[in-house]
Amino acid sequence: MPPTASLQDIAWVLTCAALVLLVQAGFCCLESGLVRSKNSINVALKNLVDFSLSAMLFWIAGFAIMFGASFHGLAGASGFFFNASPAPNELTFFIFQLVFCGTATTIVSGAVAERIGFRGYVLVAALVSLLLYPVFGHWAWASTDGGSAAGWLKDLGFIDFAGSTVVHSVGGWVALAAVIVLGPRLGRFGKDGGPIHGHNLPMATLGTVLLWVGWLGFNGGSAFALTESVPLVLANTMLAGAAGGISALVLVWRKNGLPDVPQTMNGILAGLVGITASCNIVTPLAAVLIGAIAGAICLLATRLLEKLQIDDVIGVVPVHCSAGVWGTLAVALFADPAQFGTGLGRWEQLLVQATGAAAAFLWAFGGGIVFLWLIDRRFRLRVSAEDERLGLNIAEHGATTEILDLLQDMDRQARSGDFTAQVRVEPHTEAGQIAGQYNAVLEKVCSEIEQHEESKAALSESEQLMRLIIDTALDAVVNTDAEGRITDWNPQAEAIFGWPRSEALSRDLPATIIPSRFRKAHENDLHRYLTTEKSLILNKRIEITAMRRDETEFPAELTVSALDVNGRMCFSAFVRDITDRKTAERELAEARDKALESSRLKSEFLANMSHEIRTPMNGIIGMTGLLLDTEQSAEQRDFAEIISFSAESLLTIINDILDFSKIEAGRMTIEAAPFDLRSAVEAVAELLSPRAEEKGLELIVRFAPETPSHLVGDSGRVRQVLTNLVGNAVKFTDQGHILIDVSLIGTEGDEALIRVSIEDTGMGIAEKSLADIFGKFTQADASTTRKHGGTGLGLAISKQLVELMNGEVGVSSQVGEGSTFWFTFRAPISETAPPP
Ligand code: ADP
Repeated sequence: MPPTASLQDIAWVLTCAALVLLVQAGFCCLESGLVRSKNSINVALKNLVDFSLSAMLFWIAGFAIMFGASFHGLAGASGFFFNASPAPNELTFFIFQLVFCGTATTIVSGAVAERIGFRGYVLVAALVSLLLYPVFGHWAWASTDGGSAAGWLKDLGFIDFAGSTVVHSVGGWVALAAVIVLGPRLGRFGKDGGPIHGHNLPMATLGTVLLWVGWLGFNGGSAFALTESVPLVLANTMLAGAAGGISALVLVWRKNGLPDVPQTMNGILAGLVGITASCNIVTPLAAVLIGAIAGAICLLATRLLEKLQIDDVIGVVPVHCSAGVWGTLAVALFADPAQFGTGLGRWEQLLVQATGAAAAFLWAFGGGIVFLWLIDRRFRLRVSAEDERLGLNIAEHGATTEILDLLQDMDRQARSGDFTAQVRVEPHTEAGQIAGQYNAVLEKVCSEIEQHEESKAALSESEQLMRLIIDTALDAVVNTDAEGRITDWNPQAEAIFGWPRSEALSRDLPATIIPSRFRKAHENDLHRYLTTEKSLILNKRIEITAMRRDETEFPAELTVSALDVNGRMCFSAFVRDITDRKTAERELAEARDKALESSRLKSEFLANMSHEIRTPMNGIIGMTGLLLDTEQSAEQRDFAEIISFSAESLLTIINDILDFSKIEAGRMTIEAAPFDLRSAVEAVAELLSPRAEEKGLELIVRFAPETPSHLVGDSGRVRQVLTNLVGNAVKFTDQGHILIDVSLIGTEGDEALIRVSIEDTGMGIAEKSLADIFGKFTQADASTTRKHGGTGLGLAISKQLVELMNGEVGVSSQVGEGSTFWFTFRAPISETAPPP
């Protein structure tokens, strides 16, 4: 800055310096907005610290290296610890250059964010402000003031008005070297990698605007005077920034279908970087073109880095290097050569510009990569993976936010797998609301899990019980899938079939347990079941011939049930070995056949015997009858009567036995012939009346009026039953009467239902004997029987005969008062009177 500078110029440049300081605020907002929240504080602090550091270093040595007396045009070597005369123009120049150095330094921080350690970053910042920036600055900007040589680039005629190359490219190339040495962030590239988004885009946007404002200072103050060209400089700066933003926006929108925010911001910054070298000598139209092209170049460079898997967090390299190189070349392309002030033609100038850009690359990138590689070897620039995951806010500064606390709590839970403890709730914060909601969700999830566990336990208990039942079942329990392959085989199945479970599983069930000659039929049954007749084998007990492992066969009972498990059919078969039962059944049947045979033989024998006895017995009775008709002594007559009575008793017994054996052998038949019921009853009464009279008993017959007398049936059998019952009544009655009562109790078509009852006033029958009085060989009490004789078969025969006539018998009795025996029978009513 010339010593002649007016106060007005000084005021302008100082104002611009203040605006350039605003660039620091811009970077701070931009970078902390474009990183993840866990690194925001770290980035912000780096921005603050690097400026302080670079200010100190620039004061100590940077300014001297940049603007001190030149050593062969390579570096300044005087004026360390800037302490010149208090001339305001010099101080103003120093301040302006100091904020420039701070800017070049801080550019790096956005690229290396989220993984460089704080110490490493401080070293990088020191390298830039102490060495890389001042040296290159000397090359391009140190003039011959004071008699010493100018910087070698400046000597060549290199034009860089406000630092497209000096500030931006240099900062950007160092950033590129740094990100290469550091390597990409975890999760950015590779198998599970992908874009990592900034956490606060509005803040980043604000940062861009602040940078834009700062740029006015950058470019506006670079003439070091408030000249007439300042408005053009500011207009070009504004237009180039706007054009860069719009071109990037349009291109990225067309490409991705979305107006991408970071790309748009970077387009603006690229436009600003692009115009920085030439803003004082190009037209506004050229500024728009330069800015727009810078925006497009920035986009292309972003893609290229991504392809190369170089992780530049906020796009420092595309904005500052690519646009910086472009802006440097654009000076020669767009400005009027008359304005160059170097005396060079356009192409010569272009060559010089290219030389400058290449020198910046070689020095800043080449030097950067060597120095950083060395620093990295000694001090490891990058934080540990653990710290990177945790975030640099906490790892490097112990600085946390509510949201980070919450995330940490959640992370702890995720790692430990213990979700019972709740996360901390910071009251009256957004994070607190999220935490509260998260806790509520967690509580619900925990209770669901608990319920799930409980039902799982219950299920496993019932499964165990089921298993126990199956394992201890006395039947073989076999499960199969739809194709009949065995899926379960219990211990009893092992015992019955001789196949161990391990070998039985997956075998075909029919092939395993059914002899081959029955298998086809069995499979047909199964097929029929599966296709149509679902009830054919299902849930039915069927008897089959089963086969053991050794191919011996045995009878078995099979029950199959089918189950639809989630749309897949499976079968459960219960198989019981019924060998023992079959043997028992066979033995029983044989015993029954034997018993039937012996009873048949017995009746046959009895029938023969009775027949054989009856003939001589009739002879005896006939002869005693004749004997009684002849004259003889009273004593002889008594003997003959005893013989006659005994023989008749014997005959009755024999007849009874014969009848009974006939009934037992099923040979008793009932005839159907017309007969007169009334005469039949009266005949029996007449037959027995002598015996009744002998005992002084009155024998009464009562025939109810409407009772039909002409019937079709077996009059002999009716008489036999009646004789039995009336005979018993006479036998067991000592005084009073005997009443025979005949009545009609109903008709069905032409059939009459007749009831005959015999009431006596005799000894009666004890209640305990009544129950089976109609059984064979039953006698109510032994003493009476002995006294009256008899077989105990009379009532049994009567019952059988009545049942053959479709009737019933019954009795009611009171001991000491008398008994009433009754019977019914069915007989068609005859139209005509029976033959006499
Ligand atoms: P039995 O030919 O020996 O008389 P029954 O079968 O005719 O055999 O009778 C069986 C028994 O029932 C008799 O021994 C007798 O004890 C009893 N009993 C039958 N009828 C009467 C009756 N009217 N009064 C009392 N007891 C009777």
